Amino acid sequence: MTVSHRHLPLILLLALPGFVSLRPVALGAQQWPIHDMNRPLPPVVDPGTAGRPPSDAVVLFGTDELSQWRMKNGQPAQWKAEHGYIEVAPGSGDLVTTRSFGDCQLHLEWAAPIPPRGEGQERGNSGVFLMERYEVQVLDSYRSRTYADGQAAAVYGQFPPLVNASRAPGEWQEYDIVFHRPRFDRVGKLVSPARMTVFHNRVLVQDDVELVGATAHGQRAKYSVHPDRLPLLLQDHGKPVRYRNIWMRELPER
Ligand code: MG
Repeated sequence: MTVSHRHLPLILLLALPGFVSLRPVALGAQQWPIHDMNRPLPPVVDPGTAGRPPSDAVVLFGTDELSQWRMKNGQPAQWKAEHGYIEVAPGSGDLVTTRSFGDCQLHLEWAAPIPPRGEGQERGNSGVFLMERYEVQVLDSYRSRTYADGQAAAVYGQFPPLVNASRAPGEWQEYDIVFHRPRFDRVGKLVSPARMTVFHNRVLVQDDVELVGATAHGQRAKYSVHPDRLPLLLQDHGKPVRYRNIWMRELPER
């Protein structure tokens, strides 16, 4: 293939590591004429009925078994799985998926324990960690006060939810999360931060926020380089929080 000199500056620009996140914007939308019938059509997906996974989702927990999960320490899954939900086994450790994910859409449902016990961070605490390190807080925040960046649906330690859409403990609550992983260059320097959009019980609570770094407790978050794909993690914070109907759609890299 011959490359005309006219295109050289663009090609050199695309080769720069820092340009990675801009490439799809530059070439994606504008490479097709408007309304071109030859433009590839999106794949067909059966959206399922309300509450059920779409046909292209990876079902991580649908019935009563934990085949898609293990403990963070590598042991077989020890949390309870019965009656259509998973329950944190306090003190057993965090649960992770056997598969790894990068950019994704995640749906799950959770319920805080009844009767409610403890106050603030001690009340039904768990957490949904994308890539084992970026936490959307799970907490009973129904008529229960804690620090804003640590309540239910907060990006823990970084962004309080826009509103508190919590349901009462014992009731099933939904999270729908769109996550884009951070990008690092070849020497491990951050090129673009992780981003998250979160709906809590169908209410928008995180609007495409740019994460400051990996979740940390009591200190500012910061990034350190990690693989492009890592497991989803559910946190054991010592409370018998329940989860059900967990599914993931992998998103195309952009
Ligand atoms: Mg937590």
